[in-house]
Amino acid sequence: MRCYNFSPGPSMLPESVLKKAERELLEWKNGASALEVSHRSPEFQELIEKSKQALIRLMAIPDNYEILFLQGGATGQFAAVPMNLLRGGQTVDYVNTGLWSQKAIAEAGAYAEVRIAASAEENGFTSIPKMNTWKLNEKAAYLHYTPNETVHGLEFYWTPEVEVPLVADMSSNILSRPIDVSQFGLIYAGAQKNMGPAGLTVVIVRKDLMGNALPITPSVFDYSLQAKANSCYNTLPTFTLYMIHLMLEWLEAEGGVAAIMERNEAKAKLLYDVIDSSDFYLNKIAYESRSLMNVVFDFAKPELLEVFLRNAEAVGLYNLKGHRALGGVRASIYNAMPMSGVRTLAEFMTEFQAKYG
Ligand SMILES: *Cc1c(COP(=O)(O)O)cnc(C)c1O
Repeated sequence: MRCYNFSPGPSMLPESVLKKAERELLEWKNGASALEVSHRSPEFQELIEKSKQALIRLMAIPDNYEILFLQGGATGQFAAVPMNLLRGGQTVDYVNTGLWSQKAIAEAGAYAEVRIAASAEENGFTSIPKMNTWKLNEKAAYLHYTPNETVHGLEFYWTPEVEVPLVADMSSNILSRPIDVSQFGLIYAGAQKNMGPAGLTVVIVRKDLMGNALPITPSVFDYSLQAKANSCYNTLPTFTLYMIHLMLEWLEAEGGVAAIMERNEAKAKLLYDVIDSSDFYLNKIAYESRSLMNVVFDFAKPELLEVFLRNAEAVGLYNLKGHRALGGVRASIYNAMPMSGVRTLAEFMTEFQAKYG
């Protein structure tokens, strides 16, 4: 029996998507599997186009944006973003709200002078600093932030309004809520949390920001080169793109991003309600900064963690262990996690508390 997989990434995929991939694994088009076709074949080029169109529909992406499918993960983009977007500038602004912000900041430091516009470090990464406290640099080539901090469990429910191009690492919350793409200069997201299996990173970039990459930029990370090559400057992971396409089809059939947000809110509420109704479970994140995607919590009696994880696995609730840097529990409940999985976890938490509280 399949478990409920609360892994932070690569994460759970909908069963219907996996079943379709299984059906088509031996024969996709012209009798070959998507694992076996050339990325330059007409059927594959059509799949790239269809995936772009699905993203455009789902996110209402305006036509002055380019959509790229790149390798190297979101971590690759930590370097590719400054290499492509400095455009003759020297300084860049970053907002530090947790572990992924910090990694992006460290990587950007190799290419640019990084200034920290705001940091949640002072409050122990429990709330997102209010915008009126941010120290913005008008000469910055862009401002980078992380709308959902996958490890710390913090999420922005608002989009920062800045004069410079806004860059967002949406790896763990892309397609989970409606956004206005025109507010962004660039959005990037690794596929393996909300869009498919690992192997590709979606980059949505405003066209006027491209074409000025640093000379040291590797060709595979050069946005304008990749845009001209339709993301096929070199071999792209064909099967990952095929799976992303199935995931986008699935999301459209589920009613799109607005519908999935309602479900995501309901799912997160089930868990936060259990946490809030007791002092057995603890979540330190400020109410208005709590993630809908990654619900983190500790125990008033920390020694219960191992028992909790063991008992959870026994009833089919897997991969709930928090990040090694933080400990505790983290339930990652991306788009593909069904309501039934979250309900099972919430009931398990209530019973566990009754037994050990
Ligand atoms: C998972 C994650 C990353 C890292 O993605 P890779 O594809 O492993 O490089 C970066 N940022 C955020 C917000 C993430 O959740």
